[in-house]
Amino acid sequence: VKFVYDFTEGNKDLKDLLGGKGANLAEMTNLGLPVPPGFTITTEACKVYLDSGEEPAALRDEVSAHLDALEQRMGKKLGQADDPLLVSVRSGAKFSMPGMMDTVLNIGLSDKSVQGLAKQAGDERFAWDSYRRLIQMFGKTVLGVDGELFEDALEAAKAAKKVTVDTELEAADLKKLVTKFKKIVKTEAGRDFPQDPREQMDLAIHAVFDSWNTDRAKLYRRQERIPHDLGTAVNVCSMVFGNLGPDSGTGVAFTRDPASGHQGVYGDYLQNAQGEDVVAGIRNTVPLAELERIDKKSYDQLMQIMETLENHYKDLCDIEFTIERGVLWMLQTRVGKRTAGAAFRIATQLVDQGLIDEAEALTRVNGAQLAQLMFPRFDESAKVATVGRGIAASPGAAVGKAVFDSYTAVKWSRSGEKVILIRRETNPDDLDGMIAAEGILTSRGGKTSHAAVVARGMGKTCVCGAEELEVDTKRRRMTVPGGHVVEEGDVVSIDGSTGKVYLGEVPVVPSPVVEYFEGRMHAGAEDADELVEAVHRIMAFADRKRRLRVRANADNAEDALRARRFGAQGIGLCRTEHMFLGDRRELVERLILADTQAEREESLKELLPLQKQDFVQLFESMDGLPVTVRLLDPPLHEFLPDITELSVRVALAESRQEPHENELRLLQAVHRLHEQNPMLGLRGVRLGLVIPGLFTMQVRAIAEAAAERKAAKGDPRAEIMIPLVGTVQELEIVREEADQVIAEVEAASGTQLKLSIGTMIELPRAALTAGQIAEAAEFFSFGTNDLTQTVWGFSRDDVEASFFTAYLEKGIFGVSPFETIDKDGVGSLVKLAAKAGRETRPDLKLGVCGEHGGDPESVHFFHEVGLDYVSCSPFRIPVARLEAGRAAV
Ligand code: ADP
Ligand code: MG
Ligand code: MG
Repeated sequence: VKFVYDFTEGNKDLKDLLGGKGANLAEMTNLGLPVPPGFTITTEACKVYLDSGEEPAALRDEVSAHLDALEQRMGKKLGQADDPLLVSVRSGAKFSMPGMMDTVLNIGLSDKSVQGLAKQAGDERFAWDSYRRLIQMFGKTVLGVDGELFEDALEAAKAAKKVTVDTELEAADLKKLVTKFKKIVKTEAGRDFPQDPREQMDLAIHAVFDSWNTDRAKLYRRQERIPHDLGTAVNVCSMVFGNLGPDSGTGVAFTRDPASGHQGVYGDYLQNAQGEDVVAGIRNTVPLAELERIDKKSYDQLMQIMETLENHYKDLCDIEFTIERGVLWMLQTRVGKRTAGAAFRIATQLVDQGLIDEAEALTRVNGAQLAQLMFPRFDESAKVATVGRGIAASPGAAVGKAVFDSYTAVKWSRSGEKVILIRRETNPDDLDGMIAAEGILTSRGGKTSHAAVVARGMGKTCVCGAEELEVDTKRRRMTVPGGHVVEEGDVVSIDGSTGKVYLGEVPVVPSPVVEYFEGRMHAGAEDADELVEAVHRIMAFADRKRRLRVRANADNAEDALRARRFGAQGIGLCRTEHMFLGDRRELVERLILADTQAEREESLKELLPLQKQDFVQLFESMDGLPVTVRLLDPPLHEFLPDITELSVRVALAESRQEPHENELRLLQAVHRLHEQNPMLGLRGVRLGLVIPGLFTMQVRAIAEAAAERKAAKGDPRAEIMIPLVGTVQELEIVREEADQVIAEVEAASGTQLKLSIGTMIELPRAALTAGQIAEAAEFFSFGTNDLTQTVWGFSRDDVEASFFTAYLEKGIFGVSPFETIDKDGVGSLVKLAAKAGRETRPDLKLGVCGEHGGDPESVHFFHEVGLDYVSCSPFRIPVARLEAGRAAV
């Protein structure tokens, strides 16, 4: 195998092997853009190293060969004393992991070559600045020295000289700083800073490999669901210098605004600076547009390159560049992250520009982004004063208590508080706190700062660079203009879509996208916003493309009507249990307590018209569309009073010698019905078989409701669903009774009701015997919540709190199987049952009604296994429609 690729050998499709950065450096090289020469060590080499603890045997020679070629090309040798070639050693995994992995610049400098560099550049200050940066980065990331020690020494040097920014330090100061830094390395790492350039390079390469497995990197991957076994590539890239004086500098740019999607000049530039200075916020950057004034030639060239890149990648790109004495160099590009709103807008803009087609547009957005756009926003008309304004870095409306460090953010959020994490700027150590917070507020840094990039990636609200806010993390407070002090625990609100910061709680209003789905805002109308327009168009693309139908889980007419507005094509699950609660509880108690069949029938008779009325409304609201009604599922004791409470009542009545006949009977019933394991007990079809008349009453209510709707010239399409069936015999018995009831109602009303009867597949045995069950079922609806419970033997109500966190941390699964369907286990039962069912009954209708029906990844799975529809809660319907469309691309 080949472990090293020159930038001229790769291309953008080799991300698995070369990582995102390496693949795109190669792509830019091949496009003829000015990329400093270099080479990439593959993720394969990293994997061997991480598995065995050693480099693959061939790697050293391959690196040597590529280094030789690089030296030849550059006309100087790595670290050569009189004229050193310097390189950066840069990490770069398949997926970008901002701030997670570490890069070392200026490799090749030593006590000797720093002199050579000074002479060659004619700039002593520059050479020593580069050297101190190398020792600092190398010390921190390769030798594991606490970075603060270097920072403190740098601060001390500035203080001693009474200057505020690093560019004001002169060569002599920097020389002293280098001595100091070397001492820090010696004491802290127990070794000298290596003077041999090749040793520097090799150690840095290993450090990049190792950084794949830092806690920070692992946490980020878990968050982003990036597999842990990909490994990182390492890029070795010849250095270009942005710190060579005012005609040099470094910057970042976007080909479009990653917040709005608008085309234009977006980015930040910093003169006389190197590498991460721009994003670290150590000095204030200028907007990219100012580069035109500073260096028109480079600016024009950059604009042209940006156009080339956008047309080539057919998407928004972000870019890192450096200008060395008026010469522009490209250091990185990738298809850029963007806000959810921008994703929709950019996708439609690119369609309009003729760069991509509708199908491609669907791949540029996703359900998670749509869900994010459906979040509520702040009420603009609320009379709450803004106290500051920063950069709208990641949208959303977040309200919470101010906290000034990650530790507190995590602690408070664990105890149920909503918090806003406020920092001057964030760094990778703040990741826990950022995850725990509702939103993130920083006083420094731009759209490309760590806070902004990471928050956008997590879909978390973020306002950054709110410079008029004075954040004092040590004293846990923030001073706002006018002098008011916000202490830890004070409530603040931040708006990631406008950048506004408010004191106190701002009321929230629904998002325009929800207003649109609700039919209160119309695409095409004059005042419709751009975002709504884009969502409208993308939804149309998805609806044209998708094969899966989307239904709603809804139990009442109000939810059903909303679901219809959101695009539901029927109800996939109407739970009937709420129809037994409230005022009806008493009737149900009587049913459960009945001693004789006559008593039982009495209460069922009273329940019947109530149930029927519920169904009439539901069928009316879903007129012309299928409505799947599930017969009673939960164990009966859920409808009875709590055992402890009831015992107390009985005991009290006894001691007061009050009559308590009924309470006592109730208590006995509760005891009788008490189960150790109710989820595996008397529920679902078992109830229907054990309590005579219960299911037939429900079936009659459904049939009579349908007949009533027919009489009113409606078009009811009811489907009767029997829950928790494990064997076809259960279904056959219920079905026989149901068919009889339906026939009676049809005869009485003189209409054909065309009711279909089917079952939920939610027990492993049902899935395994689906071929038999299909004999008695016209449809299957996979109840993947219970199926997940029963396949794994997990109690859904307990495991999330008890051990799922540990499982997630250990990587046993990347996401809870209750959230995203476990394809290998639960999913293969679904597949098997679907196949067996259709073998018995080719026109068997197949759907899913568990929570998974609205989960993007699961929707793709259900599409692949050939289900007819998914059913989910009304608010998730747009997401399911979109993902069903994406699945069909
Ligand atoms: P990250 O993935 O954190 O962005 P990079 O490898 O891109 O890390 O590098 C960190 C910083 O150093 C970036 O600003 C990058 O542009 C800069 N940089 C990397 N390599 C070079 C180089 N060869 N010459 C000049 N600057 C470089
Ligand atoms: Mg970095
Ligand atoms: Mg970079």
